[in-house]
Amino acid sequence: MDYREVETTREYVCRLDHGRDWRTQIEAFADEQAIDAAFFQGLGAVEDAEMFFYDQERREYDAVTFPEPLEVAACIGNVSHLDGERFAHTHAVLSRPDGAALAGHLNSATVFAGELHIREFDTKLQRQHDEATELDLWGL
Ligand code: ZN
Repeated sequence: MDYREVETTREYVCRLDHGRDWRTQIEAFADEQAIDAAFFQGLGAVEDAEMFFYDQERREYDAVTFPEPLEVAACIGNVSHLDGERFAHTHAVLSRPDGAALAGHLNSATVFAGELHIREFDTKLQRQHDEATELDLWGL
């Protein structure tokens, strides 16, 4: 395990804008506040979602879309740099009216409502290609 000691610098509570994309709002906020490393958690509701599942055999993401209103029962993610831009790596557990859960890597979703807590760290996290997984993982 690689690691780096970090300290929290700033923390924010945020309310996402209705009708805009969940993840890109977080990235725009990180750009605005020059956040180079952070973790966040959130909850709310979206009106549709595109989630990715990483196939470990094929080393490729498969996309699945859910064009329906969903609760964001839980969302967790982090902010770091990928290919020169801030990237909000976002995972979510979404739920349907009957309580059934959908979960995975959240690529996009139109916000109905959303609340976040973002904790910034005093470092810059940079993603690098990892040979073992073929994913872009943190270089620590
Ligand atoms: Zn992911």
